[in-house]
Amino acid sequence: MKSKRFLSLLLALAMVFSLFAPQVVLAAAVSEDGSYKNVIFMIGDGMGENHLRLAVQEGYDLFMVENADLRGQSKTRSLSDSVTDSAAGATALACGVRNTNGCVGTYSIDPSGILLRPRSITENAIAHGMKTGVVTTDSTAGATPAGFSAHVKARGMAEEITDQQLASDIDLIWGAAVDATNREAVEAMGITYVSNKAELEALAPGSRSFGQFSGSFWRPAPLDNSGLPTLEELTVKAISLLNADNENGFFLMVEGAHIDKNSHATAEDGTADYAEKHERVAAAVKGFDNAVKAAVEFAREDGDTLVVVTADHETGSLYLEGGVYRFHSGSHSGANVPLLVYCCSDLITESAAVPNRSIPGRIAEKLGWSSLEVPKADPGSFLTKLKNMLKRS
Ligand SMILES: [Zn+2]
Repeated sequence: MKSKRFLSLLLALAMVFSLFAPQVVLAAAVSEDGSYKNVIFMIGDGMGENHLRLAVQEGYDLFMVENADLRGQSKTRSLSDSVTDSAAGATALACGVRNTNGCVGTYSIDPSGILLRPRSITENAIAHGMKTGVVTTDSTAGATPAGFSAHVKARGMAEEITDQQLASDIDLIWGAAVDATNREAVEAMGITYVSNKAELEALAPGSRSFGQFSGSFWRPAPLDNSGLPTLEELTVKAISLLNADNENGFFLMVEGAHIDKNSHATAEDGTADYAEKHERVAAAVKGFDNAVKAAVEFAREDGDTLVVVTADHETGSLYLEGGVYRFHSGSHSGANVPLLVYCCSDLITESAAVPNRSIPGRIAEKLGWSSLEVPKADPGSFLTKLKNMLKRS
C-alpha cells in the first residue's frame, strides 16, 4: 500500500513538471519594436475550415478570409482525447496548457486529486495593468468565456464560474444570461448590469459591467432579437470602452458561439435536406465575420493592435461530398481549425499548423511579455495535499 502511494506521488510530481514544461518553451525575449499595445482574440466556436467554405458557397463574402495577413491552422486535441470539448479547448487557448475535457482553467493531477490553476492570458493582462473584456453569444458561464475568466474543475459549475467572474478584475463580461445571478446581486457589488441594447449603449468608460442578454439573442431569424445587440455591436462597444483613456492597452476575447450550436443541432443522414441547416450555419459564420471585420478595422486604424481569429474545435465533421457540404456527426471532430492573423506578419509561419496551447504564448510574446506567467497552483490546497500524501507514504 505504501509503495502504491509513493508511486502516486512520483506520478503526481512528474505531471507537475510536465505541466510546467510547455510554459518554459513559451518564454522568449521580444524586442520592443515587435510588441503591441492591444490584443483582440476571437474564437468562432466549432468553426472548421469547411464552415468557412460553406458560408462562401452560401453566397457570403468572408472578410476574415479575404483580409488575413497570415493563415494557418490550430491543432486542437486535448490531454484526454483526440477530440477536445470547449472546456479543454478554451483552457489551451487561454492558459497555454492542454487539460482534460470538461475542466475549465484547471489541471487535475490524477490519482492525487491535486487541482492546478494555470494563470490565464486574461489574468496575465490584468497583472500587466491592461484592461480586459470577455464577450460571447453563449452564456457568460459557457466553457469558452469561463476559460478566460475562471478556474473550475467542471464546466457545468455555472454558479462558481459566475462568482469568480464577478469577483475578478475583468472590466466587462457580456453574454447570454445565466440563472446563477441577477441584477440586484450584480449591482450590489458596484458592477453595472446590462441586459438590452439601450443599456449597452449607455455604458460609459470607467465602470465594470456584466452583460446578461436574453438566452436566445444569438439565434437567427425568425426569433425576435429586437432590442438585443449583435456580436458585431458588442465587439464595437467593448473596444470603445476598453480603449478609452487607456495607456496600458487591453486584452479582449470575443466568442461567436452560434457556429457550434447550429452545427450540433440534429446530425443529418445522407438523405436529409441540408438547405435550412446550411443557411443557419452560414449565417452564424457571417455574424462572427462581421465582428471580426469591426475588430480588424479598429486594429488597422489604431496601428498598435493584434487581432487573432481561431476556433476551439470543429463541430459536425463537415466535409464536401458530391458537391454538397454534409455534416457527418452532431458532435465535435478532431480536425485542425483555421488560425487567422491580422496586422502581424510573424505570429506564425504562413500555412503552419501549430498546437492550440502555443497560441496564448505567441500572443504574450507580441505584447512584449517575456512569457505567460508560470501556472499558479493554489498554494494552500497544493501544499496541504502534498504534505498529506508524504505523511501517508
Ligand atoms: Zn466549442
